[in-house]
Amino acid sequence: MLWKKESSESGERFVDLFESIDEKGRQAVDRLILDEMKVYETCKGNIVSNEWRRLGTECFHSENWLQALTYYNRSLRHAEVGSESVALAYTNRSACFFQLKRYKEAITDIELALGSANLPAKWIPILKARKKKCHQILSNLIQLKKNEPKLSYKSNKNHPYIANVLKIRYTDKDDNHLVATRDIPVGKTVLLEEDYLSSYKWEHACETCWVPGEKTSLIPCNECALVTFCSTKCQKMNRTHKLECGSVLNAEHATTNRLIIQSILRAIATFHNIKSLMEFVGKILLEVSKKLPDSTLDEKSMYHCFFKLERDNVLHDEQLPTIYQLYRFIMKMPKVNVMFETEEKRRFLMHLVAHHFNIVMEHSYDLRHGKVLPLFTSRLGHSCAANLMLIIGNDYQFCITCRPVKKGEMLCYSYLPITMPMEKRHAALKLGFKITCKCDDCVLPTLPIDSELITLDTDYRFIMKNYTSNVYCPVERECIEFLNKFGHLWSSEIRSIYIIYLTTTYSLHSAKY
Ligand SMILES: [Zn+2]
Ligand SMILES: [Zn+2]
Ligand SMILES: [Zn+2]
Repeated sequence: MLWKKESSESGERFVDLFESIDEKGRQAVDRLILDEMKVYETCKGNIVSNEWRRLGTECFHSENWLQALTYYNRSLRHAEVGSESVALAYTNRSACFFQLKRYKEAITDIELALGSANLPAKWIPILKARKKKCHQILSNLIQLKKNEPKLSYKSNKNHPYIANVLKIRYTDKDDNHLVATRDIPVGKTVLLEEDYLSSYKWEHACETCWVPGEKTSLIPCNECALVTFCSTKCQKMNRTHKLECGSVLNAEHATTNRLIIQSILRAIATFHNIKSLMEFVGKILLEVSKKLPDSTLDEKSMYHCFFKLERDNVLHDEQLPTIYQLYRFIMKMPKVNVMFETEEKRRFLMHLVAHHFNIVMEHSYDLRHGKVLPLFTSRLGHSCAANLMLIIGNDYQFCITCRPVKKGEMLCYSYLPITMPMEKRHAALKLGFKITCKCDDCVLPTLPIDSELITLDTDYRFIMKNYTSNVYCPVERECIEFLNKFGHLWSSEIRSIYIIYLTTTYSLHSAKY
């Protein structure tokens, strides 16, 4: 059982979760961790850096710009601070960006190279000429405005990720749901959130905001050879890397484990010291209900919200070795280790790792090129004929209404595509989510529908006549009109239009963002 104390007196230590792991088991885990750390050489060194640059230049000459970019980024991460290798990595990368027609990034790299110490003088005129060329090309291009999804309403004043037409309702079943505070028509963006936790598989991406190395001029961490940032702003904003720098678990292999470690580091970084983190968690553990905090405006309340994603506080014995490994890995980080100097604090950390482990295992999911855990989307329930569709673009995830929502109605999205054959869908819902779905599509509603009324509808006829699976198929507006009229009902005709709306909107938005 999680969070059990050694005795009932207050102030007693938590029980030792790892008591059952014998010395042999402990040594095996420590060896594993050491190996992991060795493989990914976290120390900088110009010999390694220069070798990656040489490989990068080979790729560059065979016009494999993206591969060259990856190698130059590696070279940069390994280059010793202030050395010629840093300057040359920026110089060469600027040529890659130029070839990839990313002129802004090329200019940034040229400036970084020119600003680097020990740049060989012969490169200065070459870089200046390249910069001039970039500016010329850029001034000839029409600058495209950056697309960013926006909430269709003002944001909720206590929970900035959701629109002010939604609220969190705490039910008598000890559950939290997102519900509408007024009628909402189809086509409105009502939830737009950044991930609370994310771990990226690509080694050349910003550690903070995930923007991949092809799209931005990454700068390396000054201390280790594993991590890069897209800007000094992202470098400053990232509080967790400071704690793990020098002992990062490689993301290629263990995205789930990285997410758990990250969640612990984020919790530590949220509080002044471990004592206040312990007090905060202690208070949450005393709360009897699962009710969420009244706001998610600051880091502490977001952590509160995260912490409460775990419902049962159970410890599964078969997962103990993994939890122990994670705990040991965290304790191997020198900056973290010193914070847990007493047995009382270490016992607390054991339970915290197990608690976070349960949350991440249940609520994180694979997206794009990594794993994420958003706070609000994680709480949405399922319906095959849902009133929300979840859109995952390159940099965002957000929800758009796809059926009219009545005041007081609960918001949900479909965990599986509605186009999946019903039997298969039901089996997968049961197996993966323990859900027996009773939505309009699974249990056809008994409400009589005059199908002639629908087939004679002008929007219906327009959509049926003009729909093609082309991305830019212009039926989105008619679908919205139609669903606003009939979307609260359900029939095979309505289902067809519903699916067309999902398909059209999804491709439109994921192409845009
Ligand atoms: Zn960034
Ligand atoms: Zn670092
Ligand atoms: Zn269903």
